[in-house]
Amino acid sequence: MTTVAAYAAPAPKAPLERTTIERRAVRENDVLIDIKFAGICHSDIHQVQDGWRPGTFPMVPGHEIAGVVSEVGPGVTKFAVGDRVGVGCMVGSCQECDYCKAGLEQYCANGGPIWTYNGTDKDGTPTHGGYSEKIVVDENFVVRIPDALSLDVAAPLLCAGITTYSPLKHWNAGPGRKVAVVGLGGLGHMGVKIAHALGAEVTVLSQSLRKKDDGLRLGAHHYYATSDPETFEKLAGTFDIVLNTVSAGLDYARFLSLLRTDGAMVNVGLPEETVELDLKSLFGRRRVMTSSNIGGIPETQEMLDFCAEHGLGAEIELISADQINDAYKRVQASDVRYRFVIDTATI
Ligand SMILES: [Zn+2]
Ligand SMILES: [Zn+2]
Repeated sequence: MTTVAAYAAPAPKAPLERTTIERRAVRENDVLIDIKFAGICHSDIHQVQDGWRPGTFPMVPGHEIAGVVSEVGPGVTKFAVGDRVGVGCMVGSCQECDYCKAGLEQYCANGGPIWTYNGTDKDGTPTHGGYSEKIVVDENFVVRIPDALSLDVAAPLLCAGITTYSPLKHWNAGPGRKVAVVGLGGLGHMGVKIAHALGAEVTVLSQSLRKKDDGLRLGAHHYYATSDPETFEKLAGTFDIVLNTVSAGLDYARFLSLLRTDGAMVNVGLPEETVELDLKSLFGRRRVMTSSNIGGIPETQEMLDFCAEHGLGAEIELISADQINDAYKRVQASDVRYRFVIDTATI
């Protein structure tokens, strides 16, 4: 075991503070990673606040991890010391069920994957995430960060990148297809970049036009304010895909009205409350209302290679660890362009 410094929430809703945690000794198929950067995802805040389910505390959040391999177990075949690597939302799964075998570990049929933090490892110990100096991970849940991506802007791709890339690919975003991205935050700004790079015609639907210049610079072709009722009249029946990245509840029927026949609204933000939906908003045009949970490990690697090829990193604000609590407040106020990334050397 190794003792490493970390930032943890000691109790639900409590501010994060510096502490130490134990990392297991490297086993046969494990990789020890010196974490360099960790992104702050909105779901870190949901979980520290116990918004989705009762969490395990103290909680070390962080599932957008970029670092360098510093030790490998004797059975490791994919990585060597010095490799630039990333870890996202999962650190394990059964690896035997149909979904795991198909590279869809996030949908593992045997109890789901082991989450990077606020989860329970195979040995029964709680998992701790990226707001820490080091992490030990099974090599099957580690991905390679291409040299073309610097580690700080790559870190947010491990959640925000794959969470938007996977549904855009699944619902065939590409040339000749119209994609609306709802919300221009951490997820939304990556959704815009990736949909653009896939060749789709991209529209941002944001509450106001405050971030319009950014949206167009990031690759959107059009930008509309959802506070303007005319937006919904003008764009009715327009889109093949509406990618909703907003984690608060919306008037879903209104956004569904923007879909063409057979269009899909994919919700990747997860509101804490239950959603009600009038099925008539689907019925008349065979619309699809769906969701998507990150992406599997092979697709995460594919996404990183795609982002490297197209020069797509996240837009970040680099912070030191003592700024985490302030950063949480700013994320809740939608005051970040577009992802906070912790320089873990400051932990
Ligand atoms: Zn996340
Ligand atoms: Zn499985």
